[in-house]
Amino acid sequence: MRTGLLGVGWDDHSSHARGPARAPALIRAALHDPAGNPFAADLTNVLDPDILHDHGDCHLAGDADDADRITAAAAAVLESGDALLTLGGDHAVTYPILRAVAARWPGVRIVHVDAHPDLYDDFEGDPLSHASPFARIMEQGLARRLLQIGIRADTPHLRAQAERFGVRTYPPDDIDTALMAIAALGDGPVYLSFDLDGLDPAFAPGVNHHEPGGLTVREALRIIDALPGQLVGADVVELAPARDVNGTTATVAARLVKQIVARIHRGG
Ligand code: MN
Ligand code: MN
Repeated sequence: MRTGLLGVGWDDHSSHARGPARAPALIRAALHDPAGNPFAADLTNVLDPDILHDHGDCHLAGDADDADRITAAAAAVLESGDALLTLGGDHAVTYPILRAVAARWPGVRIVHVDAHPDLYDDFEGDPLSHASPFARIMEQGLARRLLQIGIRADTPHLRAQAERFGVRTYPPDDIDTALMAIAALGDGPVYLSFDLDGLDPAFAPGVNHHEPGGLTVREALRIIDALPGQLVGADVVELAPARDVNGTTATVAARLVKQIVARIHRGG
């Protein structure tokens, strides 16, 4: 399957600091950086136009209709027949994206890498907050299953929300159990939502919410390769360029993108 790339520079619903709106161009630049080569670990050439097609950036106007614009842009990529890979933006992008993904792939299962569960019912009065996308997704039945990996910033409210929605949560120490749970999802459509703060800030300092004790890049690549079934969509979110150091986090994001594109290309 070909991957359709879509930039979604939306951070109006960040709770703490802005910045991820500027991330798509930087991840693209890292992907095309001549200091590296375009091959994934399995030797897929991820810059081959038959393997990766860039649909450009979602047009946003900074008003209340932007969520609908993101849903429409995601739907257009899926209607082209491509698997959808979006470059965020903060994590608020995932709810409008999943409205499009669930319409095309009912029963999709989500694998979510993050330090945070992002299950707040209503964070600081904003139901579209980047801390709330998975509450919206689960209460609207947009995903059949939700597995969360790398979680280490839980609260009593978030734990109750996870129980309410039947979400399985794996802290970083449970990576091996998480990999088995991912494999056990079996056949059918799968979506990967990757918040870069799921990684340890030593690997990915360019995020607004540092939570030490996170996943390694190698573990993240293992998660991508463990995804079963058909990978129909993915997002890479929360890159905050002003916090990055020497483009390290953008380069990590590009590495994840390569692994995701190769996984989509292999099919399932
Ligand atoms: Mn998140
Ligand atoms: Mn996070």
